[in-house]
Amino acid sequence: MTDYSLVGIYGGTFDPIHYGHLRVAEELADTIAFDQFFFVPAGEPRLRKAPVASKYHRARMVALSIQNNSRFSLDEREIKRAGVSTTVESLREYHAGYNGKAALCFIMGVDTFLKIHRWHHWLEIFQLCHLVIVDRPGSMRMMDRSDFPPIIQDACASRWVTCPTDLANQFSGMIYIARTTLLDISATRIRKLVAADKSTRYLLPEAVSDYIKTHHLYSGENGFK
Ligand code: ATP
Repeated sequence: MTDYSLVGIYGGTFDPIHYGHLRVAEELADTIAFDQFFFVPAGEPRLRKAPVASKYHRARMVALSIQNNSRFSLDEREIKRAGVSTTVESLREYHAGYNGKAALCFIMGVDTFLKIHRWHHWLEIFQLCHLVIVDRPGSMRMMDRSDFPPIIQDACASRWVTCPTDLANQFSGMIYIARTTLLDISATRIRKLVAADKSTRYLLPEAVSDYIKTHHLYSGENGFK
């Protein structure tokens, strides 16, 4: 049986990055034997409204938040891409870059997973990577997946694996549900707090909140987007 090296890919708008993202990444890095782990800030997303902070600022905030963590790297491929950016495009690039020798593990919260059928070429994603899904407060729970929309249940029926080591046996197509600490933190709430001049301490790294202050991000009406 082939043992593929495992590459964690955590995509998001990170507008801004917060401890909800970072704690998930840290716990997954302990659970899954990743050889590499990349944070990939989205450029111009296809499905959601434009992020509030520029892609440059969002990437800088990710860089600051992981600067002392040797397990994590920032991948700027999507913010450097002109025009609308899609995850499938990045996964194709990764796949080609590793020459089929790595199992890519794309990480997402269940709120994102429940909308995956709206992603560009969504079924191709299962051919390019595994998914690692984490629960998120305020969303449906992964244990209630029999209540998920039929289109998702059908596409995922034979893909669930219960052991993270299974991810290295095949290079794509499996879905692992990871148990991570539930932290009810969202970037939307952080932007609202900044706009209302309220404290965001302990929701995100201090270096990131200092960056937000220095660059006047999310202040005034902008923060409410
Ligand atoms: P926004 O509030 O602007 O929609 P967000 O907090 O959801 O932002 P994103 O950058 O959109 O952050 O999220 C990137 C990925 O991280 C998504 O797959 C999302 O489900 C997941 N995620 C974000 N926050 C959490 C959290 N607190 N717990 C678990 N997963 C999370």
